[in-house]
Amino acid sequence: MSNCIKLLPDHVANQIAAGEVVQRPASVVKELLENAVDANASRIKLIVKDAGKTLVQVIDNGVGMNETDARLSLERHATSKIAAAEDLFQLHTKGFRGEALASIAAIAHLELKTKQDHEDIGTQIQVEGSEVKEQQPIVTAKGTSIAVKNLFFNIPARRNFLKSDQVELKHIIDEFQRVALAHPDIAFDMVHNSNELFQLQASNLRQRIVGIMGTKSNEKLVPVEESTDLLKVKGFIGKPEYAKRSRGEQFIFVNNRYIKDHYLNHAILAGFEGLLKDKTHPSYFLYLDIDPKRIDINIHPTKTEIKFDDQHAIYSIIQSSVKHSLGQFNIAPVLDFEK
Ligand code: ADP
Ligand code: MG
Repeated sequence: MSNCIKLLPDHVANQIAAGEVVQRPASVVKELLENAVDANASRIKLIVKDAGKTLVQVIDNGVGMNETDARLSLERHATSKIAAAEDLFQLHTKGFRGEALASIAAIAHLELKTKQDHEDIGTQIQVEGSEVKEQQPIVTAKGTSIAVKNLFFNIPARRNFLKSDQVELKHIIDEFQRVALAHPDIAFDMVHNSNELFQLQASNLRQRIVGIMGTKSNEKLVPVEESTDLLKVKGFIGKPEYAKRSRGEQFIFVNNRYIKDHYLNHAILAGFEGLLKDKTHPSYFLYLDIDPKRIDINIHPTKTEIKFDDQHAIYSIIQSSVKHSLGQFNIAPVLDFEK
């Protein structure tokens, strides 16, 4: 009997992985912005054309890559961020799976330009559907620029599945805002079809929130701060009278990574107990700091879900910190025996 199992060629494996990592242009935006943050950039610019269907480009002034690393960065499981399995439990970077660039390069036209600070000449690589078309030296600024064009050019079913520009742009803005909110100390710009949508200077958290949500949001923010052995909580919640029927200003970050978590969302609402009108959602921008050993973020390729060691304790710390700051700012009477 002949054997029938074959190892898939790399470009096929990359395309399969891309199916999980890249659902739409906004996924490319998230991956490129996170790489720029991991590269220690202090200024990051996002340029988008036609809601990302034609172009998503991220330019950073971070550490850049040398010629060899630039080429390697496009391979699957190629990462500078972890070296061993143990490292998964002490992550300080956004990335670690080493598959974003390989996946994106498998389903788009990608142009990478990069230069390290101490080098005079940088390097430029063009890839189309995992195939390197050319690599050559170029004169370029310190840092990295990655331009992704014609997303899903070789997967028509995916391309046709994309929604209207308005919907895709909304997803892109969501991702941009999440990364910008997670890193107020980094300057971010965003341009769509030559319109400057955001111009955010490096600043503190309150100013960053106001820069994104608009000046009116300033008066509704109530600070939250709590520190226990297990968890540090900081950030802002919106005063209950500003709660809206629609969602959209709810953000939870764990170790500076935006996450979605119904359980923690519930903990925050529990802290508002009795202060919200029916079916309204308060805004919140909560930043949790927790020992990376006590969480697992490697449960989904997009890393927006997390497993916590001690969910219940985290729930009650969040609930009480929200309740406490509402009380402290005289938003609700907090009775002494409840403290
Ligand atoms: P991961 O982020 O999980 O390591 P990626 O495929 O996103 O995987 O990137 C692969 C590698 O390419 C990174 O580990 C990093 O070394 C390098 N890289 C990617 N983007 C940049 C950037 N903007 N600046 C510097 N290095 C980068
Ligand atoms: Mg990455």
